[in-house]
Amino acid sequence: MQKREIDLEIGEVDLPKPLEQISGNEIERKMYIAKVMTKTLSYLTQTFVENGFEWLLPVVFSKSTDPLWPDPGASIEKRIETEVYGETVRTTLSMIVHKIVASSLVMPKLFTLSPNVRVERRERRFTGWHLYEFTQLDFEIRGASSSDVISFVDSIIKGLIFYLKKNAREELKYLNVYDNLRVPELPLKVYDRIWLEKKYGQEWESIFKHEISEPSWIINIPREFYDYEDFSTGQWDNYDLILPKYGEVLSGSRREWEYDKLLKKMERDGVRKENYLLLLKLAREGKIKPSAGAGIGVERLVCWIVGSKHVGEVQLFPKIPGIVYDL
Ligand code: ASP
Ligand code: MG
Repeated sequence: MQKREIDLEIGEVDLPKPLEQISGNEIERKMYIAKVMTKTLSYLTQTFVENGFEWLLPVVFSKSTDPLWPDPGASIEKRIETEVYGETVRTTLSMIVHKIVASSLVMPKLFTLSPNVRVERRERRFTGWHLYEFTQLDFEIRGASSSDVISFVDSIIKGLIFYLKKNAREELKYLNVYDNLRVPELPLKVYDRIWLEKKYGQEWESIFKHEISEPSWIINIPREFYDYEDFSTGQWDNYDLILPKYGEVLSGSRREWEYDKLLKKMERDGVRKENYLLLLKLAREGKIKPSAGAGIGVERLVCWIVGSKHVGEVQLFPKIPGIVYDL
């Protein structure tokens, strides 16, 4: 870990160093973290496959990607657009649009491990929780409800911890986290965002994670057009999973699929319709099917498991906001 001078408010924070600058113990620690990563990916991908999901390869450039707006948590410094063959394309912010289209037209259940490029504002390097490039385990299920997704994720989290305690015992002991890592009881608790706002005020997000001792759900969060919103009640049918002390590791929702609502929300939120032409066309033709899904931040999940102070530590090639290493 590397000391850098910082912003007074936050104090001094250790930032993960590039590989060529670490030695001895730090390399050994990287190796143990890499083993936990391998076992985590192995468990997760196998579990998705066993549950009937197709494994989709990721894409990098597309005309449509996640707007990441409006989202109370987003803080994007730069959006990467480039031109290929005379067309404007964007690097993947998330594969949400691909998931909705793929689950509607082809596969009822799918997942992907996709690189998400989110050029976060550089101040975010000190949060220990943001990266400008990370991997998302993104999945989608045609016809599913929110509670289907929530109980599936509950079982994955419990199953993963159980699996790692059994199969990564040596690694977790070396990293000094074995005893603190508890297999959670299910169902994980669910809290409504409105209730949290009443209890903790506008700062609920930063307070809540310190109030829980098990991963916990927050539902009903206003954000992007693709999350389902009930216009008559103002309720959002969506969810985030929060890791104790760390923060959000997964977000997802039941999806909007109707053309009129998609259009109305894009107009209301100032999202550029011209960036979502295919989605809108398919919705207008009635080809988008109801679905629900979520995306898991893989590095965040492993960061919490291994007790890292900075999520960049679990990457072999850290992508820390504001810091561009050679690799
Ligand atoms: N991929 C989405 C995101 O990054 C998560 C989801 O809604 O599935 O926000
Ligand atoms: Mg989202």
